[in-house]
Amino acid sequence: MVFRSPLTRTIAYANTGGYAATALKLAGFDALEIRGRSDSPKYVLVRGGEITLLDASPLWGKGASECIKLLKSKHGDVRVLSIGIAGENKVKFANIVNDAGRSSGVRHGAGAVLGDKRVKAVVIAADYSLRVPIANREKFMDLLRRLNSKIRGSPLLNRVTGLFSIYGTPLAVNPLNRFEALPFRNYTKTSFEGAAQLSGEKMNGTILISRLTCNSCSVQCRRETVGVSRYSFRTEGPDYAQISSLGSNCGVGDLEAVAYMNYLCYELGVDPIETGNILAILAHATERGLVAQDQGLRWGDVERMVELIRMISTKTGIGGILAEGAPSVSQALGDPSLSTAAKGITIQNADPRVEYGWGLLNATDNTGASAHIWVYPDLIYSFIDLLGEKSLVARIALNEYDKLASAVRYKQDLVAVLDSLQICAFSNMAYDLEDYVEALNVVTGWNIDRGELLRVGERIFNLERLYNEANGIVDDTLPTRFLSDPVPSGKNMGRVFPLKELLYNYYSVRGWEAGRIGEPKLKELSLT
Ligand code: SF4
Repeated sequence: MVFRSPLTRTIAYANTGGYAATALKLAGFDALEIRGRSDSPKYVLVRGGEITLLDASPLWGKGASECIKLLKSKHGDVRVLSIGIAGENKVKFANIVNDAGRSSGVRHGAGAVLGDKRVKAVVIAADYSLRVPIANREKFMDLLRRLNSKIRGSPLLNRVTGLFSIYGTPLAVNPLNRFEALPFRNYTKTSFEGAAQLSGEKMNGTILISRLTCNSCSVQCRRETVGVSRYSFRTEGPDYAQISSLGSNCGVGDLEAVAYMNYLCYELGVDPIETGNILAILAHATERGLVAQDQGLRWGDVERMVELIRMISTKTGIGGILAEGAPSVSQALGDPSLSTAAKGITIQNADPRVEYGWGLLNATDNTGASAHIWVYPDLIYSFIDLLGEKSLVARIALNEYDKLASAVRYKQDLVAVLDSLQICAFSNMAYDLEDYVEALNVVTGWNIDRGELLRVGERIFNLERLYNEANGIVDDTLPTRFLSDPVPSGKNMGRVFPLKELLYNYYSVRGWEAGRIGEPKLKELSLT
């Protein structure tokens, strides 16, 4: 879904993988455009090349699980993208939940956009007997065999032996903690003694019951977990970003509790990542005495976090303030420097004072600090050992700002084009640029080369920036705490994020003039 975010006011998109995009194609559409606002709750049914708007009054107020149950009982084997109570209440970081349990890439209030339109769900009935046209099917089958063998040969993505397949995105916890880049208690420390208790390794031995996957993917990086002692739930996730935001960043070291809160966020329709990071700001403010104890949150107090998550989704009490997003919350609590947001959205979740490539990426991304760490693992120093030759930063020293800027620019352009092709960017841990070029040519019958593919990505990236510029959003920065508050302890003690130096080099490799795209670049990209 592409939209203007109520949280960041930037261009934004929501991408959760799964099966919905393929189902939409097999229901007769490449894309849907939803305009205007209904007077009463509706859901959109897509079936057989037709779109019908149906009454959603019986679904209004229902959570993700119940919503999908009711819709499947009525329409059979369908894919469901639905909003929860938070979306109905237009919480600025309300999400859309994909088939009742997945919203990792939905961080910008997509649920509030649908809630504002009074659209409860998009329901897609695919005709699985249909085949998507492919320009050269024989070459396509050859290509599939070659690409599958690359996945099988990957130490990360092989279904049986690949570390990313085995542990999913929570694989990130231990390396980030070892490198001391893991957020703890609203980034007041960069490591956490209880990190192992939140790791993918811990999850596999406790709450994990199965691995899930997306359409036609053998990797199976998605997690399915259940409550095993204190909590009752069965849900997808949590992913690394939810673990670090609801877990370490809030001082919680109990993985089952994190998974339960993640489940609750899905049920209520609120982004668990933003929720966790905002609760961390509240706990930090409480510690500093800026909030009364009975209104605030103590580090690691899961019971109170559960209560606050419910209050956010209904905008009740202090939940009404928290529902406005990190900058508003920290402003309202009396200390804007507590915010960990750039362009209105909180960074997920590695410390930019330690990970400079990550910091530059989040400072300059068109959707704010919302990058997913496993989309850019090759920019993360903590992952060099995991990535091996696939790491872009393995041979770049931290102070080689020009090389870091080039690596960030390359990856941003590549991800822009992969996202627009609906290709999971995790595949880049096994595939190379040539593989995407060949796949696109074989499917479409085109004959483009690597430079042209990256050029498409560059045009997308610049076009998004133009949209933001037209809406007055031109700031490339990170929260002040990363620029002026040094890492307080540990092996990275004293480091800050060198924004000025990195931006200077980044603008140069982008061909922008003092941060603005400028006429020459616009002409070069045919964007005038
Ligand atoms: S690697 Fe990508 S497509 Fe495959 S299961 Fe994971 S998120 Fe889905």
